[in-house]
Amino acid sequence: RTIEVNIGVKLDDYDLYATLSPGLRALQSEACVLVPKLKGTKVWMVNSTAQGGGVAEMMPRLISLFRQIGIDTDWVVAGSDKIEFFNITKKIHNLIHGVCCDFVYEEERALYEQVNKENAEALLKLLKPHDIVVVHDPQPAGMIKFLKGKLPLKFIWRCHIGIDQHNEQTKNAWDFLLPYTELYNFNVFSATAYIPGHLAGRATVMHPTIDPLDHKNRYLSIHKTVGILSNSGLLRPYQAVLTPPFSNMAKRLQPNGNLSRSFLPSDPGLLFKPFALQVGRWDRLKGFLELIKGFELMKTRTSYQYDHRHRRRLEMLKLVLAGPDPSYVSDDPEGEDVLNEIFDYYKSLSTALQRDIVILNLPMESRKQNHLIVNALQLCASVVVQNSIREGFGLTVTEAMWKKKPVIGGYTCGINEQIMDDIQGKIIKNPANPEDVAHVMNMLLKEPKKREVLGHRAQKTVIDHFLIFKQILQWLHLFDKF
Ligand code: UDP
Repeated sequence: RTIEVNIGVKLDDYDLYATLSPGLRALQSEACVLVPKLKGTKVWMVNSTAQGGGVAEMMPRLISLFRQIGIDTDWVVAGSDKIEFFNITKKIHNLIHGVCCDFVYEEERALYEQVNKENAEALLKLLKPHDIVVVHDPQPAGMIKFLKGKLPLKFIWRCHIGIDQHNEQTKNAWDFLLPYTELYNFNVFSATAYIPGHLAGRATVMHPTIDPLDHKNRYLSIHKTVGILSNSGLLRPYQAVLTPPFSNMAKRLQPNGNLSRSFLPSDPGLLFKPFALQVGRWDRLKGFLELIKGFELMKTRTSYQYDHRHRRRLEMLKLVLAGPDPSYVSDDPEGEDVLNEIFDYYKSLSTALQRDIVILNLPMESRKQNHLIVNALQLCASVVVQNSIREGFGLTVTEAMWKKKPVIGGYTCGINEQIMDDIQGKIIKNPANPEDVAHVMNMLLKEPKKREVLGHRAQKTVIDHFLIFKQILQWLHLFDKF
């Protein structure tokens, strides 16, 4: 027996419909069979923060689509007001990425378990016997110890981080987490290489995905794009932002930043001086400082100025770094320090370079507003960089690829799953080395045609592999296994 499953997506743009329909159709046809089997089962998604970072980004769209196809789903943020708890979990996060100058110690287990016990007890009051609980990342992973056996529930652990080369640090983190991870019925990782030995055979791979229709990824007209950037104070239309061919458009700008609807180029990026963009949490592993240093090298080294045209390109290029206000990212206690380190380095630069670098500590009060700003920035960037030194899987990379941007990514297992060097983007072999960063950025900058080709292939890759409809289908199949 099949039922009609309404996936609740309204598409009025024919091109977008044509682009998305294969994924939508696949979901719709399989959901008809799989969703009825989940009748009476509620799915609980549990993570540790409501804002900041890829997991919190994915959650609302995932849950809303689950509900639209008829699966009862809820999101629980199992956080804590204890900064010491998040100091421990950030240490585990860094250790799983194979970098940390300190280890996680047995003495820290008591606090880790205490917070997880409190959260587990609160969640237990909401659970019913046939529910499925999906716990995301190491922070709430310990809840299982206080949930397992209480009801005949199924538990899945979804780990979004990892590294392909295991070392002493990763071993320390996995040993700490072992008493919890082995209790889950099944585990999900973002790449095969991340699966630790003790979970082999009890884990599968699922790539994080984006929703092409949410505020961060939906198509924005040029008027809307410029409006968002001006109204949020990021674009000062009357100052030196407009490039010479379009500078007379400044006269057409209204004081509130809305453009008049005539004489506009179709590519919003043309409106601004070209800029390279990196979006991400203020985390050392995102390689922000190394990116600034690479940008500095590229701007100042005369050997990069091959000819007059390229010298002009380099002169014009700006660097925009954007991240969420750290006070809103409750599970990352290092954000404030990292941002200060970036500001300190910025202040040590020459005035000319300071003028070319924009650091945006984006407000998070309104999720929609924040997402629209990120969307507008990604749409306008000439090049998007994700100079991660470690990356489990960069959603920011997928978001930029969806917008046909050539992405330059750091050589990390996660980004290698998303782009192949010279096919959908460029890979920086050693993102911790500013020389490498400068070299790759400069190479891509001098080849506008190549940027276009890479951008087109990037979008095709996202359509084929990294859209949310595919992830929903993978979850349905996984739930069906139980
Ligand atoms: N992001 C955002 N607003 C910001 C900064 C970042 O919405 O001000 C989003 C970004 O667009 C991406 C997510 O945060 O969707 C970061 O996910 P990613 O996988 O790149 O990195 P993570 O933080 O999970 O390590």
